[in-house]
Amino acid sequence: MEGNGPPLLKVENLSKKYLIKKTLFHKEYFTAVDKVSFEINYGEILGVVGESGSGKSTIGKLVLKLIQKDSGEILFKGKDIYRMSRKEEKIFRRESSVVFQDPRTSLNPRLTVYKIVEEPLIVHGVGRKDRKEKVVEAVKDAGLDETFLNRYPSELSGGQRQRVAIARAIVLDPDLIVADEPTSALDVSVQLQIIKLLEKLKKEKNISLMFISHDLNVVGNIADRIVVLYRGKIMEKGITRDVIKNPKHPYTRILFESLPPDHPSRRKDLKNIPEIEREDVAGGCPFYHRCPQAEDQCKKEPEMRKINGREVYCHFA
Ligand code: ADP
Ligand code: MG
Repeated sequence: MEGNGPPLLKVENLSKKYLIKKTLFHKEYFTAVDKVSFEINYGEILGVVGESGSGKSTIGKLVLKLIQKDSGEILFKGKDIYRMSRKEEKIFRRESSVVFQDPRTSLNPRLTVYKIVEEPLIVHGVGRKDRKEKVVEAVKDAGLDETFLNRYPSELSGGQRQRVAIARAIVLDPDLIVADEPTSALDVSVQLQIIKLLEKLKKEKNISLMFISHDLNVVGNIADRIVVLYRGKIMEKGITRDVIKNPKHPYTRILFESLPPDHPSRRKDLKNIPEIEREDVAGGCPFYHRCPQAEDQCKKEPEMRKINGREVYCHFA
């Protein structure tokens, strides 16, 4: 339901931990995603940024139900994806898809482009004649011509392979695509072409995207709204333009402060924020050890504060 209905995707208090060590007497878990909430509206690109290991891919896999959640809710078109009938789940699978980072490993090397793009249609029971038409259309929409149909992934460039992955992702005409670092494995010159393609698909086909990236330039360019993750928690969430112009969380501020829009290459590397020596605190602000503004109250967990459509996870926002 577009318009006044529920958003395309609504995620509430989503959490996921991984079992990282198991002995006879003891199990150790790592919390990769910690009570994360966000929405994706119809025809919108939500950027998810964060350094490596911050839980981006885990969130992507959770919302597509490629892995199981621990707690929280994921509603697709208002329906809990864990309480769907078989039929509803099948529709959900058809209406959502994924583009991974590296098309070298995500495409089956033994299949032709035609077979790769056709596969989801077979899974969803589309008849042979319609399949041909849809494969050709998807491949064209992804910016490749028909001469590519009989080629194998090994005969293609990185950018062309990613176009094939995108063709496969759109062939069932989905409403949501999770694009997990879709340009990170590509040459810089090709990155922009793929971004333009995804923007075009959003506009022309009204596809919503969850665009995952560790690259602030890329996300800053493509996303309508962004979610900034740190160690599995959302630090800040808002309209991309506003967050970049006026970041409110100390983490986001560090990320974006040296970021004149016309000098995107000067943006900070996400990994290079130094740790400040502070005592260990359990359950406090996750950014405590790197935050230049931290005070005593940061040893306690902050609340998510809402300010004019922005949400900031900081005592001082
Ligand atoms: P990102 O995509 O932001 O780099 P991930 O979601 O891949 O982050 O991973 C978040 C954290 O969870 C990382 O510390 C990672 O090592 C850990 N992790 C991811 N997948 C697994 C897994 N299958 N088993 C154990 N730990 C995992
Ligand atoms: Mg990842």
